Amino acid sequence: LFRFRRGSVHLRDVKFSYDGEKGIIKDFNFHAEPGQRVALVGETGGGKSTILKLLFRFYDAQKGSIMIDGQDIKSVTLESLRNCIGVVPQDPSLFNDTIMQNVRYSKLDATDDEVYEACKAASIHDKILQFPKAYASRVGENGVKLSGGELQRIAIARVLLKKPKIILLDEATSAVDTETESRIQEALKNLMYGRTTFTVAHRLSTVSDADIILVIKDGSIVEQGPPQEL
Ligand code: ATP
Ligand code: MG
Repeated sequence: LFRFRRGSVHLRDVKFSYDGEKGIIKDFNFHAEPGQRVALVGETGGGKSTILKLLFRFYDAQKGSIMIDGQDIKSVTLESLRNCIGVVPQDPSLFNDTIMQNVRYSKLDATDDEVYEACKAASIHDKILQFPKAYASRVGENGVKLSGGELQRIAIARVLLKKPKIILLDEATSAVDTETESRIQEALKNLMYGRTTFTVAHRLSTVSDADIILVIKDGSIVEQGPPQEL
């Protein structure tokens, strides 16, 4: 297993098409320093989520290269690559199992205490303690139900447990109440600390907390800069 140590990300002349005809990502060039928080914004269909998929090698770009710490991501195994990347999906899904096992899924040998710590940092611990059997509560059909914001915090706890160098986050678009908003913000702050983060941002606070914002349109960066300059 190859270990990436720093988490710098370099996309160089990246071009991608899903069908081999229509260009979706066009000459995409960007360099993120280790620990930099990058927010991707822009109109629907611009290619924001596609960039995240290319970083995770869900798809491979037809042209150009993507490098992490100067190493082409195609030159290491998928396992090595994905070991250093944590993904918080737009619609996280849980297994028909306990909350404990659902969080532990990203690091199977994690102790109970490690799971509690991750859930505290993800601002979901107190909520879990309110469930009838706390961490032993089952999710799914006859189990506890979680809201979208809670699901996303479980997904954040999973990634915190994994401790990757790079985070990919496709933010949910759904509106949440003020308290949930501040809990998610706290969870994200802990998640992003010291990690290179690519976020498809919908929430204003994520955009204003970013180090750099990339405005994506038709598969290219049309504008970039820190929040105060855009
Ligand atoms: P949104 O803000 O709506 O999430 P986005 O910027 O994330 O949009 P993408 O999901 O990256 O946009 O999609 C970019 C383009 O690629 C769109 O035209 C979309 O229709 C197309 N596309 C996305 N996924 C696929 C796929 N699996 N197969 C073919 N085309 C796709
Ligand atoms: Mg998207």
